[in-house]
Amino acid sequence: MMPALLLASTRAMRATRFIAAQAISRTVTKSDTSPVTAADFASQALIAITLAEDDATRGISILGEEDAQALAEPAQQGVCAEVCAAVAFALDRPSVAADEVLDAIAHAHTPESALGTRFFALDPVDGTKGFLRGGQYAIALALLEDGIPTLATLACPNLPPFTIGQQHELRVDAVGTLAFAQRANGAYELDLRNPSADAREIHAACGSSTNEIRVASSIESAHSAHDESLRIFAELGCATRHLRLDSQSKYALVARGDADLYLRLPTRAGYSECIWDHAAGALIAQEAGARICDLNRNALDFSTGARLTNNHGILCGDEDLITRILDVLRR
Ligand code: AMP
Ligand code: MG
Repeated sequence: MMPALLLASTRAMRATRFIAAQAISRTVTKSDTSPVTAADFASQALIAITLAEDDATRGISILGEEDAQALAEPAQQGVCAEVCAAVAFALDRPSVAADEVLDAIAHAHTPESALGTRFFALDPVDGTKGFLRGGQYAIALALLEDGIPTLATLACPNLPPFTIGQQHELRVDAVGTLAFAQRANGAYELDLRNPSADAREIHAACGSSTNEIRVASSIESAHSAHDESLRIFAELGCATRHLRLDSQSKYALVARGDADLYLRLPTRAGYSECIWDHAAGALIAQEAGARICDLNRNALDFSTGARLTNNHGILCGDEDLITRILDVLRR
């Protein structure tokens, strides 16, 4: 099944890059006022089209974030044309009909009630704000079986591949990186500069005694409580380097030892995280040896539909560091 997921992610990556290179990229505002771009729609369409081509993945339902309805409106013809051009580019076809694209997006937006026990969770462009600001974003795809992520790909089109060393600012890479994992089989990163090379197994930096703790968190202050995070590290009395980036690229950094921790502290009581924002990244980080849990030290429970309603906050990385942080929070 993994080859189909890798091909789907690679095509989606081609399409989002194609759209990012356009002078104007059109944006639609969703009912929750968050933005969605032609890249989100093109990526979702390509994942659906590619998974439907392979015997191993055809017929497995997909819980994708985007709804085709917004794109089908007459007012969105310009965005729809941009989506079709990007899909055609990624598929190496001269053109693709709007109906095929709209059907694919709709097919990948299965209602929660129809999902069953085995489905794909898809965030076609996780970190849309990162995409719009030319920063980090990710195409996150995970297979869930009985509430457990078992396969995952995480394409990060702007993330430098391999280790970033001591860099303070994450540069925007021209090629990007593609991480993947299968449950109980480790986590890997592909060298997209050298497609014939074998994938490299990646490992989290757990247990390594660095003087400085590298903490990855959101750029958006509405998505993670930055002040509280600063207070925790002040109380721990350790030197920290804060890596701020959008999307599940944060899990990729932890998985390959470029960050010691991904910290997501809730900014409001009622918010439950979306499954597509975490399933792929969490499996990859876990397979790379990172610990992942919520603020109550509970494992993430992916069996509750589209939202992680049984969890509150997320910590991913070094086990000992997580224990120290949870101790501070308890105090
Ligand atoms: P990030 O790039 O890590 O900041 O995460 C982006 C994701 O945050 C989006 O895909 C949203 O689904 C999600 N999100 C939206 N509102 C919130 C919130 N209040 N708290 C946490 N995550 C949120
Ligand atoms: Mg997202």
